[in-house]
Amino acid sequence: MNKYKIAIVGAGPSGYFTAQALQNLQTDDLSFQIDMIEQLPTPWGLVRSGVAPDHQKIKTVSKVFEKIARDHNFRLFANVEVGKDVALKDLREQYDAVVLATGAAKGRKLGIAGEDLRNSISAANFVPWYNAHPDYENAEIDLTCETAVVIGAGNVAMDVARILATDPAELDSTDIAEHALSALKASNIRTVIICGRRGPEHAAFTAPELRDLPKMKNTDVFIDLDQINSAISRFSEFVQTEKDLKNNLEVMKLIAGQSKKGADRKLKIKFLASPLEIKGKEKVSKVVFSINKVEGKNVTATGQTFSIETGLVISAIGYDAVEYPGIKIKNGRIPNIAGHVEHNVYTTGWAKRGPTGVIGTNKSDSSDVVDLIIKNLRTPKFSAGITALLKSTHEIINQTSWEKINAEEIVSGQILNKPRLKIPNRIKLIQIGRTKA
Ligand code: NAP
Repeated sequence: MNKYKIAIVGAGPSGYFTAQALQNLQTDDLSFQIDMIEQLPTPWGLVRSGVAPDHQKIKTVSKVFEKIARDHNFRLFANVEVGKDVALKDLREQYDAVVLATGAAKGRKLGIAGEDLRNSISAANFVPWYNAHPDYENAEIDLTCETAVVIGAGNVAMDVARILATDPAELDSTDIAEHALSALKASNIRTVIICGRRGPEHAAFTAPELRDLPKMKNTDVFIDLDQINSAISRFSEFVQTEKDLKNNLEVMKLIAGQSKKGADRKLKIKFLASPLEIKGKEKVSKVVFSINKVEGKNVTATGQTFSIETGLVISAIGYDAVEYPGIKIKNGRIPNIAGHVEHNVYTTGWAKRGPTGVIGTNKSDSSDVVDLIIKNLRTPKFSAGITALLKSTHEIINQTSWEKINAEEIVSGQILNKPRLKIPNRIKLIQIGRTKA
């Protein structure tokens, strides 16, 4: 019987799906010791710190992760940072294969003047702030202005805009970070404007997310009906409109034509608007946009501009993978061929393919990488694995410690009628993980 040691770096969806694919391929002759390494004291990656708090249904995939983690050949080593607490080259020596499932956590830059002004922030910082990621507990986000601008026409832009535009009372029963809920309750923001640089037909929103917009009870949603009708007429010129696109345009048209409630909270979606410059003295005060037009398959600037007075700009224009010692990033990803990086190192998920797809997309991605790993496996290594590499004083959050944290959050949430009350502080998380059962 061959038993191979596999280290998975990153306890997000692509990491768990890699573990699951390995578990599914175990036979009487082949098995895997899976060690999952995570820099935070909590697992689940984007399911915990990315998925919007008002999208609880998507988070039920964590039940699958916990089932994977209960296998006797699976161990969690959270609160362990590769490149700091252990070196990638040492992991490579200890394991038959190392899979980097480290995602893409760095927000892409717009590359325009004024981008670094105060309160011009990336969704890569805003989303983990409202989701209680411990590195963002004290992020400085000023919600005192009346109008916020969100740049990008993808689902992250949509999440960010919805969280800013929703009446915070509607978020009371979610697992949003308490610090974010308090800040949103005190917020002066009443209008949130999503700006996409191309037309409605090019938007990266998906129909289910668009359909969520009218569900906000105390917010009116505005989309320019003319922009949607123009997109539909442009599109009917092409032979076959894709089903997803047709759905998107239909939902946008429906929203655009809906009668409004007269709510003082407004979410607006503007298309064909590229940011040219963010203006302000120290802090953001205005964004200047180019007005674009669609010409055939191209989107070009008309030469005309318009501005939005705002005190908060959030860019949600995609993510890049983050570099760490031993790993270089190229074009926002870990360079790889079909998931193979070098030697016995592999990658999967957003670190491998870039920030695309929904959580389930990682399943097939990880399964393909596992097939490749198995093809390349030779004689199993006789080594101790990560325990031989960590200092004896290093405080690991293992599965048992994590289950204590998980239980504590769920119990404190129940009292408040929330799915959980997330702990946004690293030291507190570790303390709870340390408590006696
Ligand atoms: P995305 O879907 O790639 O959207 C990025 C948006 O940013 C696009 O509209 C893009 O426009 C725009 N953009 C890029 N560079 C720009 C620039 N310099 N100036 C202005 N706009 C720019 O990325 P995302 O929203 O970060 O989402 C990442 C992935 O997570 C997606 O697959 C998404 O579906 C998924 N996700 C899913 C959910 C959900 O299922 N509920 C929630 C969140 C995220 P162009 O098209 O013109 O480049």
